[in-house]
Amino acid sequence: MTTLLQVSNCTKRFGGVVANEGISLTVNEGEIVGLIGPNGSGKTTLFSSIVGAHPVDEGSVQFDGAEITRMNVPSVARLGLLRTFQQTRIYGKMTCMQNMAISAPTGRGLKSMFGGFTADEVTRAEELLDFVGLSSKRFLRGGELSFGQQKLLEFAMALMARPRLLLLDEPTAGINPTLINGLIDRLKRANAQLGITLLVIEHNMRVIMNLASRIYCLAHGRLLAEGAPEDIQSDQRVIDAYLGAG
Ligand code: ADP
Ligand code: MG
Repeated sequence: MTTLLQVSNCTKRFGGVVANEGISLTVNEGEIVGLIGPNGSGKTTLFSSIVGAHPVDEGSVQFDGAEITRMNVPSVARLGLLRTFQQTRIYGKMTCMQNMAISAPTGRGLKSMFGGFTADEVTRAEELLDFVGLSSKRFLRGGELSFGQQKLLEFAMALMARPRLLLLDEPTAGINPTLINGLIDRLKRANAQLGITLLVIEHNMRVIMNLASRIYCLAHGRLLAEGAPEDIQSDQRVIDAYLGAG
């Protein structure tokens, strides 16, 4: 079993706020791992530290055995480690296909809008839009999609870059409950069929219990518990953390 992500003793402070304190976790290749915890417990901060959006104050992050603690976001992305955001970041004035084009892993970024989108990339963009169920919307602008569809587009954009590990920040937040099952199914298929390892922040307990094989729970910036979904679900410390935050 290959350890893909190794977070060791990471601490991150914002002024006087200790957002993460001494956090360690691992994600093995092929897994779907959950990261839960009440609002403000430090989940998003940990994602930002992992992908290089801000430096940690203490600790280290390794990806596939390589030291990435001090790398920036583009360098980490080139190694195959990407994140999506709680608030989707798609381009509302560009079509779905154009959004896919700028996400191609060639590093051309926005330039790819102005040509240079190769035939292979077009095919892959169409396949991935089909994979997330947005095939019929591919020439609509991002801003014309529903919120749930925008999240699916963002997911397809992330897949365009062929990540090995994808960090998803509350992928089901704001999505109509009837669409959530479809999204869970697509996340599982991305894992099983496309071979993408997933670390998923999720607020919806039913979703994460259904999706993850292991779950880490944060509270007040610290790791509170780790285990299989059924253990986490019945862990009194986890229950108390959520009740206390409610
Ligand atoms: P979660 O994603 O679990 O809701 P966050 O990681 O967003 O939690 O936040 C953890 C703590 O760190 C909160 O107290 C939050 O206010 C604080 N925090 C997060 N980002 C920043 C920032 N950029 N500047 C200052 N404080 C921040
Ligand atoms: Mg968050």
